[in-house]
Amino acid sequence: MDKSAPVTLEMVTSEIDRIFELQQQNQYKVGNTTVKERRAKLKKLEKALMETYKADIIQAGYDDFRKHEAEVMLTEIFPAITAIRHTSKNLGKWMRDEKVATPMAMFGFSSKIKYEPKGVVLIISPWNFAFNLSFIPLVAAIAAGNTVILKPSENTPNSARLIAKIINDLYDESEVAAIQGGVPETTELLKKPFNHIFFTGAPSIGKVVMKAAAEHLTSVSLELGGKSPTIVDETADVAAAAERIAWAKSMNNGQICIAPDYVYVHESVKEKFVTEYKKAITAMYGDNPKENDSYNRIVNDRHFRRLSSYMEDAVERNAKIEMGGQMDEKENYVAPTVVSNLGDDALLWREEIFGPILPIRTFTDIKEPVGYIQKGEKPLGLYVYSKNQQNIDYVNNNTRSGAIVVNYSATQYSNPNLPFGGSNNSGIGKGNGIFGFKAFSNAKGVQNHWAPIDGMKGFYPPYNKDKVGLIEKVVKWFA
Ligand code: NAD
Repeated sequence: MDKSAPVTLEMVTSEIDRIFELQQQNQYKVGNTTVKERRAKLKKLEKALMETYKADIIQAGYDDFRKHEAEVMLTEIFPAITAIRHTSKNLGKWMRDEKVATPMAMFGFSSKIKYEPKGVVLIISPWNFAFNLSFIPLVAAIAAGNTVILKPSENTPNSARLIAKIINDLYDESEVAAIQGGVPETTELLKKPFNHIFFTGAPSIGKVVMKAAAEHLTSVSLELGGKSPTIVDETADVAAAAERIAWAKSMNNGQICIAPDYVYVHESVKEKFVTEYKKAITAMYGDNPKENDSYNRIVNDRHFRRLSSYMEDAVERNAKIEMGGQMDEKENYVAPTVVSNLGDDALLWREEIFGPILPIRTFTDIKEPVGYIQKGEKPLGLYVYSKNQQNIDYVNNNTRSGAIVVNYSATQYSNPNLPFGGSNNSGIGKGNGIFGFKAFSNAKGVQNHWAPIDGMKGFYPPYNKDKVGLIEKVVKWFA
């Protein structure tokens, strides 16, 4: 495309058509690459993230929402590098055909599973960890031998431009390409008969993606969000709980899909919890987080207004602001905030918060928070702070969620040996490590009849009494 001319939707659409066609033609060549060749592709990405583009990534994180260099390193670059190294190390094992047993009744056959690439795949990523949530699925898609079109989020334009630049620099567009844009461009992409779509974003948009995918019976991985509950019971180390929740709720300014969304705290430790939460915030961000460069901002005006409306609704309902509450629309600044005394119908209890505001409420019996969680959508993450194993087991066995973490929050994403993803409203399918590799692969059954004698012929028609007798014996002894 002529880089100086304004880009129209028609131009993007024809680019999509052209690249899609190119990738369809190239998919078998890419699909037949060796472990070594795929590792080399990942290595290029590792070098780009660790060396060539590291400073640009840090700058883009700051320009998009004042993200501190340390946090860009910790939450964008580090997870992507971990994924690359973990994948490179294990790829040989993952790609190998998996021998499986063959039932006795099928004597003469051998069987195995071949993890073949899905083909031409689409990755649609969100803005909140623009690099991490683009490159970790990309690593899995490349590892599985696919050609890839990646669409970064328009909400973090500096990061999106840089992601596209990195991809253009590292890969030929017939194997990996980036298409930039928002809803209209994504809508055009979704018209294509991709072989898999890996979408990360809101549950409402996940439904749009799944509907579009249904048109071509394209398989989907939907990494969605929602409200991740947290329970702090009376046996918990309250200071540690408050500190860890404050950390997970303030990092990225609370704009994390697995941030603790709200807290149910035992009545007997509520005051201590609030005191310790305040202490933890001060220890991390000082007395005035607005002036502290470790504290970033809400990504844009729309999301700022969304959070303001939640707070206005809370004030109208006579909520108690336990701490914070300050907002500055000029800077999209929202102070670390704790709010109590709100009913189920308050916006803070109904909507995914995705910001540094923490609604809390008290309980006296563990059945209360568990009953509340059971009534809602299945969360992506669930956190329980307790030293009482019975309570922990009760929560674990009587709730459904993508993951549960005991005595910490938002750490489940960081272990590539664990599947990451939700369940129903919080997601469909899993990513990370081998789970990401499998999401981008088709487990193909491969059977081979090797025996010189064809035992199956014994079951061929014409049928008669002897055959029925034989089949009866087979059902009895070999099924
Ligand atoms: P979003 O759903 O608004 O956007 C995600 C992507 O979808 C973007 O690339 C965007 O351009 C595209 N998109 C938006 N509207 C679309 C439409 N109508 N048609 C087609 N494409 C469209 O999400 P977001 O604001 O970027 O991220 C926040 C949400 O994502 C939260 O719900 C959060 O919990 C969730 N999230 C989940 C994970 C996870 O791994 N499960 C990670 C990060 C964020």
